[in-house]
Amino acid sequence: MFILPRREYCDKCGRSYSKKANLDRHKKYECEVDRNFSCPGCPYKAKRKEHLKRHMIFIHNVILKPNDNNSQDLILPNP
Ligand SMILES: [Zn+2]
Ligand SMILES: [Zn+2]
Repeated sequence: MFILPRREYCDKCGRSYSKKANLDRHKKYECEVDRNFSCPGCPYKAKRKEHLKRHMIFIHNVILKPNDNNSQDLILPNP
């Protein structure tokens, strides 16, 4: 008898993972950290990093470094 492996679903974003460990890692490092990005230059808050990136580029003319997860390292241009 063949049993399909049970997939684990993230209750927040619906992503599925074949291993519980991967889901846990996703929840800890991807899903929950992927919200509430606040702009260091104004009161804007984004749910997704992509939105904050876009905001930074269009509003503040700042491009986030690709591997930078830490918004505190942003370099704002001189006025
Ligand atoms: Zn998720
Ligand atoms: Zn801003």
